[in-house]
Amino acid sequence: MKIVILGGGPSGSVAGALLAQRGEDVVIFDEDNRPDTIAGESLVPGVIPILRRLGIEDLVSNIGIHKPGVTFCTRGINEFAFSFTSLSGNYPRYAYNVPRPAFDRILQEAAIASGARKIVAKAEVIADGDLLQLNPATLEMISSWKGKQPDLVIDATGRRRLSAKLFGIRAEVGPRRDVAHFAHFEGFDDAVPSGQVRINHLAHGWAWRIPLRGKMSFGIIMDHEAMSRLGEDPAERLEAAIRGDLQLSRETSQIRRVSEVGTYGNYQLISTRGYGANWVAVGDAFGFVDPMLSPGMMIAMQSASMLDEELASRKPREALQRYSRRMSHELRAWMELIEFFYNGRIFELRDCGRECLKRFPFLPLEFVEGFMSRNMAGMASGFTTGSPFSRGVLRHADRFVLGKSAGISPHAII
Ligand SMILES: Cc1cc2nc3c(=O)[nH]c(=O)nc-3n(C[C@H](O)[C@H](O)[C@H](O)COP(=O)(O)OP(=O)(O)OC[C@H]3O[C@@H](n4cnc5c(N)ncnc54)[C@H](O)[C@@H]3O)c2cc1C
Repeated sequence: MKIVILGGGPSGSVAGALLAQRGEDVVIFDEDNRPDTIAGESLVPGVIPILRRLGIEDLVSNIGIHKPGVTFCTRGINEFAFSFTSLSGNYPRYAYNVPRPAFDRILQEAAIASGARKIVAKAEVIADGDLLQLNPATLEMISSWKGKQPDLVIDATGRRRLSAKLFGIRAEVGPRRDVAHFAHFEGFDDAVPSGQVRINHLAHGWAWRIPLRGKMSFGIIMDHEAMSRLGEDPAERLEAAIRGDLQLSRETSQIRRVSEVGTYGNYQLISTRGYGANWVAVGDAFGFVDPMLSPGMMIAMQSASMLDEELASRKPREALQRYSRRMSHELRAWMELIEFFYNGRIFELRDCGRECLKRFPFLPLEFVEGFMSRNMAGMASGFTTGSPFSRGVLRHADRFVLGKSAGISPHAII
């Protein structure tokens, strides 16, 4: 099959590597104009099997740092240190924090080493009914195809969502209208334990600290209004957020910003359709849930792997349908899990061992607590996020232990 991939980010490069490994004729278009600050620096353990499959874990470990878990700090008083070591089974019990441009380069090089060709250019496409076609100038850049259109176009254009925009596909949007600003800083206190990501609850949102080599990625996430009250420009807002939070200001007296400030907005959206006659969307081009829990890079890479799996085992049309269903399922599962963090129920459930004991006194407390934390670790790591069993445990605990069920906040279609 002649396959063209629009975009060489994590989703496009992993798709390129896996499909080329199976002997497909793959061309990746990428603009190669990444800024230094791109969101997606904190990975979850679910990416490790993909890195190993591509044979690049050592390279990633050389540019990144080992991430043992995440500490959630709610309102400055309540700390919940979450460690991937509570994962059960043979799952890797760690992840990495990575600088995005270098990480993306490693993935692209893996795709090229697998046989994919990369063209540094912005790909231009046109819609022809439900077909996605390369425009003549873009097609001409792939001289070996002699003017023939590809059999499959993979939209890996990220938040640009080229196919969705071209075909007017509607999107399900999440309940929050947040803005994110982030930058790299020197002088933050070292993370404890080393490499641990830290999430701080703020008055109107939350902040992340992702330790990288020699610096810290610090970001704030708030709704538009609260963010604009912090100042005119993004750098000013980042500083005001630190000054305005007692705990953050205590831990950040000597910081110095060493990068541009990156800004993201309106990112919680999932396409209602992720494939068509000859095209399919992967990664953010299909959907992005929310940065809380850092699932984006894993979903992007996993979507590429799911697509490859489906294409390897059935006819293209059926493969695209099945892939699209699986991807929607994964995105929905993450959405549900993340909701537990935003509504604070996960922190209530953390103490559910004690509550369980009152209701089911015959169960050993340690067993219940251990079981709940393994279940949570499996879900937040990306290994069992979509598993009906794990989701069922969480929902049951929510309903029976906390005696209520919050469900998912309503999502609008735009
Ligand atoms: C505030 C925020 C924080 C986040 N933090 C994290 C985190 O800590 N951990 C995590 O896992 N995820 C995080 N994410 C999500 C993560 O950034 C994305 O999920 C991930 O980048 C998706 O990868 P992708 O390959 O789908 O798209 P992208 O990384 O966006 O790559 C798409 C690429 O395609 C190229 N492109 C687009 N159009 C064309 C074209 N026409 N021709 C050629 N090239 C083109 C672009 O230049 C780009 O390089 C965060 C997201 C946000 C909004």
